[in-house]
Amino acid sequence: MAESPLRLERVDMVKIVSLAKRRGFVFPASEIYGGIGSTWDYGPLGAELKRNVKDAWWRSMVTERDDVVGLDSAILQHPKVWEASGHAAGFADPLVECPECRKRYRADHLDDPERCPDDGAALSAPRMFNLMFKTFVGPVEDEASQAWLRPETAQGIFINFDNVLNATRMKPPFGIAQIGKSFRNEITPGNFIFRTREFEQMEMEYFVRPDEDERHHDYWIEQRRQWFLDLGVRAEHLRVRAHEADELSHYSKATSDIEYRFPWGWGELEGIANRTDFDLRRHSEASGKQLAYFDQQANERYVPYVIEPALGADRAALAFLVDAYDEEQAPTASGGTETRTVLRFHPDVAPVQVAVLPLSRNDRLVPAAREVYATLRRSFAAAYDDAQSIGRRYRRQDEVGAPLCVTVDFETVEQDNAVTIRNRDTMAQTRVGLSELEAALRERLREMGSRRV
Ligand code: ATP
Repeated sequence: MAESPLRLERVDMVKIVSLAKRRGFVFPASEIYGGIGSTWDYGPLGAELKRNVKDAWWRSMVTERDDVVGLDSAILQHPKVWEASGHAAGFADPLVECPECRKRYRADHLDDPERCPDDGAALSAPRMFNLMFKTFVGPVEDEASQAWLRPETAQGIFINFDNVLNATRMKPPFGIAQIGKSFRNEITPGNFIFRTREFEQMEMEYFVRPDEDERHHDYWIEQRRQWFLDLGVRAEHLRVRAHEADELSHYSKATSDIEYRFPWGWGELEGIANRTDFDLRRHSEASGKQLAYFDQQANERYVPYVIEPALGADRAALAFLVDAYDEEQAPTASGGTETRTVLRFHPDVAPVQVAVLPLSRNDRLVPAAREVYATLRRSFAAAYDDAQSIGRRYRRQDEVGAPLCVTVDFETVEQDNAVTIRNRDTMAQTRVGLSELEAALRERLREMGSRRV
């Protein structure tokens, strides 16, 4: 991605939320009924963005690796899964309430957990609130039919450890990855799609020899940081923070977060935890099925330790959106300047890679441009736009972060059978013959960092 020292350092969340709504990235959920707090729907461009984030993760974690396989386990599992994993008893946050304004807070998110941040009243004593959503399976709503919506995808991986071993003959160190929805009844969701009650996770459980856990933990922290850098996130907006002992989850020996500098401050983007053999042991004990690895060469059986990189797809999409946002002064056709809003997405996360635009809505240009579009959409995430003036259309494509625009003009159809490629970041325009167009677009996207084309 073209890096400019003049890039906007901080963006206002109001601008992000408003652009996201206006251009069809993210809409407030149930909006026509007045909304349902902190719940969001992804619009046409947002759906593409999130899909690209998940595809990029899957490519780097599964497709391009010999040592990781994929899984897609169910959201509803046997209730005993959550008893064994410790979530039924321990997946809880400390809830405090203000007796005056009735607002509820997570005590560990407050600077002073005894005073209401709004009106200063003394808060209630914290009580542990379990974050799992309860539901019923089948027509009878009784205790026997009670189930939980999964609060993490990881358990689906642990309980399939043996199935995957038998089906694939993987040997530690190896990983199982999956992407899917998780649900947490968060006490204080907020900050747009940063913390919601329904979200998508991308998790990988990496099974290693117990004496090699720390080496693999360090490796995955670095791998995961590099993934964000490879997709264009600015290094100065990322940092790694190791958890203090009192922050660790019930299953963790050590956790490091990759934090992103969100507009409101540093926040967790991804957690990389050393879950030890906690989960496999608990499921072995509770189910009676031994979940272990038998190393034939060494003739020994052991319960692997687990290193887990866990990332939210929504939270990652937000980080890419925020990091891409830029504003600059750009010249107008009439000789003045105007503020240009640009999403400087990396080409592998950009919802549109190439926008095809006829110079005007002319009877000869439109069919020619449509033909170019029909060809390009087979190989690229392409869009077509012929509404309003060409200047407005360039601005619109800048605002949704299309790295390249291809313009079909009168010369294309009358003279040279060539088109203009415009670069989003430099605004430079170059002319390319239609027969070389695809190769030229590929080359430009690669120059901008793409590994996908
Ligand atoms: P916190 O303590 O902030 O509630 P956590 O440390 O329990 O979060 P993890 O269990 O480590 O979160 O979850 C792994 C990843 O899943 C997080 O780094 C984040 O990207 C994502 N995630 C977790 N909870 C949410 C949520 N409520 N909304 C969106 N993404 C989430």
